[in-house]
Amino acid sequence: MTTEAQRKFYENSKMWGKKRPETVLERARLTAKAVPSDAHRVLEVGSGDGLIIKALRKAGHDPVALDISQSALKHIQSSKLVQATGNQLPFPSNSFDLVLACELLEHLPVSIYQDVLDEIARVTKRYIIITVPYQEKLEWNYARCPVCGCIFNGAYHVRSFGERDMKFLFRKIECINLKGIVKLPHPDRTISLELFIRHRLAREYLYTGPSITCPVCLSTVDKRPRRNWIGWIASGMRNFYRMIYRKKIPLWYLAVYEKQ
Ligand SMILES: [Zn+2]
Repeated sequence: MTTEAQRKFYENSKMWGKKRPETVLERARLTAKAVPSDAHRVLEVGSGDGLIIKALRKAGHDPVALDISQSALKHIQSSKLVQATGNQLPFPSNSFDLVLACELLEHLPVSIYQDVLDEIARVTKRYIIITVPYQEKLEWNYARCPVCGCIFNGAYHVRSFGERDMKFLFRKIECINLKGIVKLPHPDRTISLELFIRHRLAREYLYTGPSITCPVCLSTVDKRPRRNWIGWIASGMRNFYRMIYRKKIPLWYLAVYEKQ
C-alpha cells in the first residue's frame, strides 16, 4: 500500500494534464517505437494521465491503462481504464504480450517495489518495457516543506537506477535491449559543488513541482521558496557550466525484457 502522502500527491489534480516539454514527448515516441511488432495485447502500469497511452494509440496499439490515481485516469480517452495498484494487478498470469512501466519504478516505496516487479513479470506473457530517469541524482529535486521543514525529493523519486540495476531488474527475465535515450548537454547532474553550495550553504531547496505534498505533515506546496544571494551564486555557476559543458548525457533509460 501507498502512504497517505502518496495518495494525496497522486490524486492532486494539479499534477496531471500539463503540457509536456519536447524532451518528454520524444521519450513517449521512442517508447512507442520500441514496442515489438508481435505485441498485440498491451498493458501500461502507472499510466498517469496517458502520455505513453496516447503515443501507443498513435502507433496503432490499443493498450489498457492502469493507475492508482483516479484524478490521472480522467485525462485518458479510452474505454480500457483500470484503477488499481501495481502490486496487485487484477489480471490472470500471462494476460498480455507486453507490459510497460514508464517513469514508475523510481516512485515506488520500498514496501511494494519488489511486488510490483513480480506482478509485471507475472501478467506479461512475453515482453516488458521499462523507462526510468538515467542515473538520477535524487538530491537534484530536493524540496523543503515550508510548514514543517522536512526535506524530500519533490517528485517523490525514491530510487535511482544505473546500468546494472536495469540489466538485472527481473529475476528470471532477460534484458534484450538497454539504451540511454534523449541525449542533452546536461551538466546539472555532474555538479556536486553546486548542490553543496545550494543545499548546505544557501539552505535553498528549489523544487516546487507542478505541486508537491510533504510526506510528513501532508501540506501541499505550490509557491516557490524565497531565494538568497548564496543560492544565486550557485545558479550563476550552473549557467556558466551550461555554456561550456557540451557532453551529452541521456535523460532516461529505455529497457526491453523478454521471457524465454
Ligand atoms: Zn511538512
